[in-house]
Parts: sequence; C-alpha cells; structure tokens
Amino acid sequence: MSIKIEKMDHIGIAVNNLEERLALWETLLGAKAERIEELPERGVKLAHLKFPHSPTVELVSPLNDQAAVAKFLAERGEGIHHFCFEVENIESAFEELKKKGVQFVQDRPYQGAGGSRIVFIHPCSLGGVLIELKEEKKS
Ligand code: ZN
Repeated sequence: MSIKIEKMDHIGIAVNNLEERLALWETLLGAKAERIEELPERGVKLAHLKFPHSPTVELVSPLNDQAAVAKFLAERGEGIHHFCFEVENIESAFEELKKKGVQFVQDRPYQGAGGSRIVFIHPCSLGGVLIELKEEKKS
C-alpha cells in the first residue's frame, strides 16, 4: 500500500542570503513573506511566501556552515532544494515507507516550522529529489 498525500504544501528554494532573495521575490513577483523563522537547531532561516491557489514557496538559507543546506549551496549553488507534501499521519507514513526500504535523512519525524512534524526522504530513494513529508499541527 502506498501512503496518501493530502496536498503539495511547499517548494523549498535554497538561497545564500535570505533578505536579499526575499526582496527580489517581493519586488519582481509581488510575494509577501508571511513570516521569517529561525530554526537554530536545524541551522536554517526560512521565509514563507504565499501565492493564490499555490503551494507556499519556502526560501531557505543556512545559519552556519554545518547546516545541510550550506553543504547543498556549496555543492550545487542556489536553486530548488526540496518539495514538501502534507500527510495526515506522519508516523504511519514514515513506518509504511521504511518497511519498503525507503531511506530517510533523519531517524524519525521531528519538530518542524510552525509546530508541524516533518521528516525528509533521502534523495537516493527518489531519483535525486529531496522530499519533505509534513503533518500539520493539530489544533
Ligand atoms: Zn520545507
């Protein structure tokens, strides 16, 4: 059985300088950052850009050289970093895929932005594409 995706939540774009790139998205594309969030434990700074009827665009920049996205930027430069899909239950999606031999970047789902729970499927399991799975915070 495959897992059930609710929707595409966001597209992650790796950038060197968040403020600089955010200004570009705002000026050229009329984007508005809903919030800028720093996640020191993951070594990243995020800006979430909303567009009508579209997945959110998430600009990601590293807070330090140890962050995974810093390595990505050094190796591949700025550009599309990951796609994020929302699932109803991240624990069961994780277990289901694990049983099928899918490799994950982390040992298990963990705390993401805005109180969500997330986990990343390793690009080696999906033809070179980094996929984030996300379960929204239950209110
Ligand atoms: Zn993301």
